[in-house]
Amino acid sequence: MKTTHIEHIGIAVRNLEDSIRFYEEVLGLKCYNIEVVADQKVRTAFFMAGQTKIELLESTSDEGPVARFLEKRGEGVHHIAFAVDNIEEALEHLTQKGIKAIDNKPRKGAEGLDIAFLHPGSTFGVLTELCEDKNKKR
Ligand code: ZN
Repeated sequence: MKTTHIEHIGIAVRNLEDSIRFYEEVLGLKCYNIEVVADQKVRTAFFMAGQTKIELLESTSDEGPVARFLEKRGEGVHHIAFAVDNIEEALEHLTQKGIKAIDNKPRKGAEGLDIAFLHPGSTFGVLTELCEDKNKKR
């Protein structure tokens, strides 16, 4: 598999507007997109810090994965997303290596990316997301 860069860092927050204010007014970054990802039961806000994207995640439901994360661990870094050049191939490669995936097949994430999460039990405690931007290439 070919991992090209860190696509983004995902941060779980309780209140999107409050946290956007911190990133804009204190850190001086600009929120360039807010998007609801119904599939993951989140509302997301995006920032670029230089070349690195930051994704803030607010849960839209008490049942969603981010709600469960906040309940267990509170606010903070939720996942790290790596860009790969071929997500299907990457998942197959990882499965062969015995890495447990949460998503065995890619699904649509925010910003039209194809994404898949790996299980933190297989990745030394870090919830790891793989992303491929098929729009960019094809
Ligand atoms: Zn993400």
